[in-house]
Amino acid sequence: MNNLDLFKAAMGELETTLSGAVFKTFFSTLSFGKAEGRKMEIVAPSDYVADQINKRFLIFLKNSIDRLGKESIDITFRVEKKEVQTITEGLPLFTSVEKVKQTDSTNNTQLSQKYTFETFIVGPSNRLAHAIATTVAENPGKMYNPFFLYAGVGLGKTHLIQAIGNRILKNQPKAKVVYATAESFMNELIETIQEGRNKNYTANKFRDKFRKADLLLIDDIQFIAGRGEATQEEFFHTFNALYMSQKQIVLTSDRPPKELNKLDARITSRFASGVVADMQNPDSETRAAILREKRNVLKEEIPNEVVDFIAINFESNIRELEGMFLQIVTGAKAEGVQITKEYAAKIIGHVLKEPPKVNINDILKTVCTYYNIKITDLKGKSRVKEFVVPRQISMYLLKDLTQTPFMVIGDILGGRDHTTIMHGNQKIENNLKENPKIKQDVLNIKRAMRL
Ligand code: ADP
Ligand code: MG
Repeated sequence: MNNLDLFKAAMGELETTLSGAVFKTFFSTLSFGKAEGRKMEIVAPSDYVADQINKRFLIFLKNSIDRLGKESIDITFRVEKKEVQTITEGLPLFTSVEKVKQTDSTNNTQLSQKYTFETFIVGPSNRLAHAIATTVAENPGKMYNPFFLYAGVGLGKTHLIQAIGNRILKNQPKAKVVYATAESFMNELIETIQEGRNKNYTANKFRDKFRKADLLLIDDIQFIAGRGEATQEEFFHTFNALYMSQKQIVLTSDRPPKELNKLDARITSRFASGVVADMQNPDSETRAAILREKRNVLKEEIPNEVVDFIAINFESNIRELEGMFLQIVTGAKAEGVQITKEYAAKIIGHVLKEPPKVNINDILKTVCTYYNIKITDLKGKSRVKEFVVPRQISMYLLKDLTQTPFMVIGDILGGRDHTTIMHGNQKIENNLKENPKIKQDVLNIKRAMRL
């Protein structure tokens, strides 16, 4: 790829990953200047644009260019003033330096001390997310707000979002940091509403907690998609209240904002107005680095060659990798044998050979949770798309993972004919090749079942 093409490819990529407003305001005004060796010069229409990109968005640009060009490239800007400028369109720019409010309230943040940046290993699969997270932690509310982080199960979302909270508390011990899973947000809201009914309380306690936060961390936001209106409404107002007062908000999810289809569009468009980053499965070098870190925490003598052997031979998400590592270490201790490559191979071999422990109910439940529908919808007669797709995916997964006969699957799914099941199964098999969204959904559902 020549350098001009590289520049264009990077722009194309940024257009799909950054929010429309950011792309339009800053990136659409850039043009390619020149390139030499590992240096690229990009032309910006004003000092302002060059400055903003340098400060806020260079990591995105560099991430795309380095990855597409397969090497690290130094990017510089040359300003060539344009006659007409049309780039003032509505982005909130947090240039005013606001003092962090010192609140007296005690911090009951439910952050785990073990989830810090110090113990988070960075590799190609999470570099961008990590860079944004550290920037957010050092400049809350100013550069990337909201920060929306998505990744599959066990890839470090909770670790990274809590690391942000821990770092901010370290820098500003009195900051009011609120961490909650979307599920606990909803449960607390419901409790507040019930208390209110019984004792004539208002929702003040709940609102004090969430709307007065200096930093709000909400984990697994996909959970509130498809939940009751009250939850979504309350979340929307919480979000707005904090956003308007330039408080940092960080959200995690198992999928990107545009795929949270059961969430009110007012909310998803707010998510996309900040920055969005994902994390992928780690490569074997990153897995090895992570295991070495876990070994340090365990303070166990385990040879590097064993650690690396596990990292290379056990491809999985990080949570399972850790589980496997612990299983090997504790297994060897219990048996009173040395932790060797051979021992690790034996344990990994056993685990890989075991048939996946998944039953029919797990599959149905996981599909329903993932799509936020009820089991009765899955088994029911309605043919609206939001039920048909999950239903067909259930047909496929039941066949693929449990080898249940089509006829039986038909019975399980509300007494359907076996030809219907065959058709649904075939449809998903085809979609897996042609439809990236379905492919991703199936992958996510399997991951959620730890497969
Ligand atoms: P998620 O919330 O995405 O499901 P978690 O944050 O719970 O995943 O991560 C699962 C486990 O993997 C945790 O023990 C976490 O500490 C560990 N982990 C994930 N990513 C990393 C990383 N980059 N470096 C070190 N440990 C990690
Ligand atoms: Mg998590």
